Amino acid sequence: MTRFNWTCESTDGNARAGTLHTAHGPVATPTFMPVGTVGTVKAMTMDAVRSTGAGIVLGNTYHLMLRPGAERVRQLGGLHKFMDWSGPILTDSGGFQVMSLGALRKLDQDGVTFKSHIDGSTHRLTPESSTDIQHALDATITMCFDECPALPAPPEIIAKSMRLSMRWAARSREAFVHREGYGQFGIVQGGTETDLRAESVKALTDIGFEGYAIGGLAVGEGQELMFATLDTTVPLMPQNAPRYLMGVGTPDDLLGSVMRGVDMFDCVMPTRAGRTARAYTERGTLNLRNARHAGDARPISPHCDCLACSRHSRAYLHHLFRANEILGPMLLTWHNIAYYQRLMRQIRQAILEGRLETLATQLRAEWAAEDWTEDEMPQPVIPSVP
Ligand SMILES: [Zn+2]
Repeated sequence: MTRFNWTCESTDGNARAGTLHTAHGPVATPTFMPVGTVGTVKAMTMDAVRSTGAGIVLGNTYHLMLRPGAERVRQLGGLHKFMDWSGPILTDSGGFQVMSLGALRKLDQDGVTFKSHIDGSTHRLTPESSTDIQHALDATITMCFDECPALPAPPEIIAKSMRLSMRWAARSREAFVHREGYGQFGIVQGGTETDLRAESVKALTDIGFEGYAIGGLAVGEGQELMFATLDTTVPLMPQNAPRYLMGVGTPDDLLGSVMRGVDMFDCVMPTRAGRTARAYTERGTLNLRNARHAGDARPISPHCDCLACSRHSRAYLHHLFRANEILGPMLLTWHNIAYYQRLMRQIRQAILEGRLETLATQLRAEWAAEDWTEDEMPQPVIPSVP
């Protein structure tokens, strides 16, 4: 059996290239985890997700406990079998989703009582029940149940919330069933307050986890403040454990965060954008609903080997979105996940070769550049094999 741990292969500045070893196989880091909230990466088959090079996906406690129910998933052999993903799965604890319910939830020192967004039925999550549910789902990585206030908030509110989350982290750890190759991550809170983040890191490392996440960022504070918080928080985190920045972000957010020592990311951006006709490319984003793509025989990107780029034109994608055809979101989600995975591979390779700064300068210049000209990308898409 594989012991759950993270090994570092190379560093470049604060950036790290490593490997996460788990019961469900290894994952090269830095890594981007496609979001599979309800047991599916929306509009993707798991074979398609695999084909992009994704090594680990997310599931969500809140959604899966309500439907189809954690016990049902357990009876059907766990989430890996249920959704046909043999690689590692990280499950969010449900804390963030429950807090987002606003008036539909009631917080106390012991946990949260809330009404289901599906049928209004009343449910309760505590650090213990969230951990038990993630165990029933057979999550490779279990997250601590925490509370995160919306930013901006006064420091005293953030402090109170962070200290509650730290008490819940200790209870989550108590409830965690240790198994070979499985891990549990603590979540650093404290908003953008340096001293509170430091207090949170200390509380979590005193408890001891297999990995550490940074929560409560990318909630409206802006990139500059997020990076400033990483600058002061990440150096305090253990060197020998994986670091996961939750809910981030754009390609530029990922690059900047890797350069500050983050190893793992998740975000709905590439999948959500794929359903709304927005394509991520080396030259920034494209809106495929835009009329300028109506007659464009070129692929979305000349550097992409996804199904959308290897077999279809921008014009076809444009047509699918204009006609509200379901294949549009399917192809474009595939493309966006493929782009994110390609970006992470590029970044990892640059860390291994000690040229991340050079790559960063190049990537930023490309993102800011105009779309490829006809001269730069003259070839139309190769027609499908009959
Ligand atoms: Zn593509």
